[in-house]
Amino acid sequence: MKLLEDKIRNEGIVLPHNVLKVDGFLNHQVDPELMFEIGKEFARLFKDKDITKVLTVESSGIAPAVMAGLALNVPVVFARKHKSLTLTDDLFTAEVYSYTKQTTNHISISKRFLSSQDRVLLVDDFLANGQAISGLLDIADAAGIDVEGVGIVIEKTFQRGSQVVRDRGIQLESLARIKALTDDGQIEFEK
Ligand code: 5GP
Repeated sequence: MKLLEDKIRNEGIVLPHNVLKVDGFLNHQVDPELMFEIGKEFARLFKDKDITKVLTVESSGIAPAVMAGLALNVPVVFARKHKSLTLTDDLFTAEVYSYTKQTTNHISISKRFLSSQDRVLLVDDFLANGQAISGLLDIADAAGIDVEGVGIVIEKTFQRGSQVVRDRGIQLESLARIKALTDDGQIEFEK
C-alpha cells in the first residue's frame, strides 16, 4: 500500500534489535485518515470471506482493527493483557511473548464476545515472530472459531511470523512488507 510505505519511509525510525519505530502515526499518535484507508484496504482484501468479527490485541492493534470493522460493518474485539490470572472462568486466555518489551503477557477475551458461529479476521499492527497472532489463534481455537484471514499493517518479512499463519493455510495480507532494517537506518521494502 503506497500511502503506508511513503509514511513509513518519511517517518519510520530504525531502532536497535530490528525494531521499527512508527509512533508518529501508529503506535502512539495515530493518523486517522491513514487508518481509515488501511481499514478499507483490509475490507477489500477480505471481502469474500463473510467476516463477522475482527479480533486484535490491545493497544496498537485497536486503531487499524476498528477501521477494518467499520469498513466491513462488523464488531471489533480486542484481547486484553492481564497480569493476574485468578478469574479465568469466563475468559479465553493465551500466552504471548512480547518481542519489543521482552516480557510474557497473558491475553484474554471474554467468552461473551465470541461465538463458534463467528468467522473472524485477525488484525495487528506488526507481524514479527508471530507470537501475538499465535495467541489470537490459540484463543480462536479454544472458542471453536474459524479464522478466515490475518491482516497486518507492517510485516517484517525477515522474521518468521508469516510461517505461523501460512502453516495453518490462512490468508495473510500485509499492507507494508519490510525485508530489512539496516544498521545505518535504512528501511528496505519487498518489491
Ligand atoms: P510478534 O508477536 O509477531 O513477534 O510481534 C508483534 C507485536 O510486537 C506487535 O503487536 C507489535 O506490538 C510488536 N512489534 C514487533 N515488532 C515491532 C517493531 O519493529 N516495531 C514496533 N513498533 N512494534 C513491534
